[in-house]
Amino acid sequence: MTLVGHLINGQMVASDDRTQDVYNPATGEVSKQVALASQTTVALAIDAAQAAFPEWRDTPAIKRARVMFKFKELLESNADKICALIGDEHGKISHDAAGELQRGIENVEYACCAPELLKGEHSKNVAANIDSWSEFQPLGVVAGITPFNFPAMVPLWMYPMAIVCGNCFILKPSERDPSSTLFIASLLKEAGLPDGVMNVVNGDKEAVDALLHHKDVKAVSFVGSTPIAETIYTTANANGKRCQALGGAKNHAIVMPDADMDNTVAQLLGAAFGSSGERCMALSVVVAVGDAAADSLVSKMQEAMKGLKVGACTNASNDFGPVITRQHQQKVFGYIDSAEKQGATIVVDGRNPQIQGYENGFFVGGTLIDNVTVEMDSYQAEIFGPVLQVMRVDTMQEAMDIINDHEYGNGTCIFTRDGEAARYFSDQILVGMVGINVPLPVPVAYHSFGGWKRSLFGDLHAYGPDAVRFYTKRKTITQRWPSAGIREGAMFSMPTMK
Ligand code: NAD
Repeated sequence: MTLVGHLINGQMVASDDRTQDVYNPATGEVSKQVALASQTTVALAIDAAQAAFPEWRDTPAIKRARVMFKFKELLESNADKICALIGDEHGKISHDAAGELQRGIENVEYACCAPELLKGEHSKNVAANIDSWSEFQPLGVVAGITPFNFPAMVPLWMYPMAIVCGNCFILKPSERDPSSTLFIASLLKEAGLPDGVMNVVNGDKEAVDALLHHKDVKAVSFVGSTPIAETIYTTANANGKRCQALGGAKNHAIVMPDADMDNTVAQLLGAAFGSSGERCMALSVVVAVGDAAADSLVSKMQEAMKGLKVGACTNASNDFGPVITRQHQQKVFGYIDSAEKQGATIVVDGRNPQIQGYENGFFVGGTLIDNVTVEMDSYQAEIFGPVLQVMRVDTMQEAMDIINDHEYGNGTCIFTRDGEAARYFSDQILVGMVGINVPLPVPVAYHSFGGWKRSLFGDLHAYGPDAVRFYTKRKTITQRWPSAGIREGAMFSMPTMK
């Protein structure tokens, strides 16, 4: 059986680390094994990165950017292979995998702007014959730890910008679908990246702990669930590392009485069920304002869901595939059970999906639940499955209060024709990424991505301009050349420009 190993110092390495099964979630069968890096393996990767750092740091930014130009071309020419690898291990349908990859490529394109992004700030004559400037220097060895749900895109949020800024990188991908991530990283060598600048260690908590406790790792980017994000952030900080840790989500849409309901239902369908709801920006709760809007929404959604096609990634006409593991499938079923027990109405029930030829796959059918209230477990938790819950309120303010009271604040959206309501919503809502008639307001690569509240620990968001700041440290230099003939005696008061 294929063993997915590590990429260390430009070489594919399979050592005597522990291993774990990798599944094809559509068939339910074990398809590969993945190596789980030991502390020793992680240390080898960090040593390789540390050794590559001095030369890479001093490589001109334009030359570093040229590697990214070539990397972009290689990602495009290998797109079919990458999407197939994503499909085999994640279960994502090819059109969705292609969308994920394209979003990742856009981050590589942004990284190609490195010479512009790293120009710094310059002021001439801040005092007589004194110039001052700020430059942005790389940190050294930095690490990324990523989740299963975007095995291509989320790592590409991190390392293209980290590397182009002059850092060396250690990536610890999800152990549940490691192959596309490893293959993508291997393309960097062909793109001209020197060995050791980019390294991938597959693994679990042991590998993560080794990264968090190693003195040479200067910063950690994490994306995953909130409990792990919080632990990573606390541990990284305690060990003196810079950290950004993006966590889980519960994304609400408000549907106003004046919304174009057919369009709203079409938008919600994709945003709730696309990728089996396993997106941190999936819209999983709709708060309908007024019973008329709620009744119309539920009946149109119920009708639209009859057309949902659930199945394996090998059929490109499917809308979405299985969830990631049997355990996760059972967890999603459990949340539907609990909503029913706690008094919600199951309008469309996905607990018994019939997928011909894939009876052992980890499928969950599209599920619609009405009359959900804030006390229900299915409302409080991030379900991360193809389950859309409907809540009913009388006013927009009640809908906003519900959203603002939730522990997560990743994404949200309002469907309305009223500009004043939309403007008030976007101004007052306590959420990091807001859509106005846009169901998945995932920022483009040249803006940054991040939630509020317990959806992000740290100050800087992922990718975009914030990533340049995260992966560099500012140095401010003030210079005067005595050769200009100017001499000053000792000054004991604070120098000013008075
Ligand atoms: P996860 O938290 O289980 O795993 C994420 C990473 O952490 C993996 O690499 C995993 O190996 C590692 N990990 C898991 N347990 C660990 C532990 N105890 N100690 C150290 N490392 C550990 O998340 P997941 O199930 O892979 O991904 C789904 C979650 O990620 C969802 O909550 C989703 O909302 C979130 N997510 C958030 C964003 C965002 O941008 N906010 C984006 C994508 C996914």
